[in-house]
Amino acid sequence: MSFIIGIDGPAGSGKGTMTKILAKKFNLIHIDTGITYRAVAKAVLDNNIKLNEKEKIIEVAKNIDIQIKNEENVDKVFLNGKDITKDIRSKEVTAIVSQVSSIKEVRLIMVDLQRKLAEGKNVIMEGRDICTYVFPNADIKIYLKASLEERARRRYEENCQKGINMSYQEVLENIKLRDENDMHKEIGSLEIAEDSIVVDTTGFEIEQSVEKLTKIIQEKMKNM
Ligand code: C5P
Repeated sequence: MSFIIGIDGPAGSGKGTMTKILAKKFNLIHIDTGITYRAVAKAVLDNNIKLNEKEKIIEVAKNIDIQIKNEENVDKVFLNGKDITKDIRSKEVTAIVSQVSSIKEVRLIMVDLQRKLAEGKNVIMEGRDICTYVFPNADIKIYLKASLEERARRRYEENCQKGINMSYQEVLENIKLRDENDMHKEIGSLEIAEDSIVVDTTGFEIEQSVEKLTKIIQEKMKNM
């Protein structure tokens, strides 16, 4: 038996920051499903595969070996044994990941992996389709949103801290493109599950979002 909290929402809505903090607070394992798609995108780049070579991308996804090890609250990601933790956040990977994740066959393989990662565990899982597709029966479902400009600003500041060289305008355009791709997938599109609690984090400091989500989770747990 697993206990599952699903957190969905677009890029920059606060999923990553919130799930890490809440995982500690509620003693849950944090799973970032975006990592799985980013690892496939990284492998696609490594193999010089073009985005229109769908069959080759599917082949990559079929044969990929992704390991995620949580070390001191940092998800270390290994692709066929090689540490790609930093590489999966690169501009190049970010530019193609939503096209790669739009391929139905890639999604089916990654969703299978994501379900296995959660098997028998108490988890807080972040993504785009956790509450609608990966775990439609999740115990608690939350959808985070924020204005496009605020999400771009947050991601831009995060990138600056991580040394990822992208201008604010580039980040904004990339987020727009990913929103568009992520909302129009054959399966697992970014959408709000009908029983998700929607939280708009626009204008919120991190502490305010944590407080709001903590209350929601505690309230839900009381009634379980
Ligand atoms: O969450 P993150 O921004 O790292 O996700 C990278 C990309 O992976 C998203 O833009 C989306 O295309 C894809 N993704 C997805 N479904 C998920 C998580 C991520 O399609 N559950």
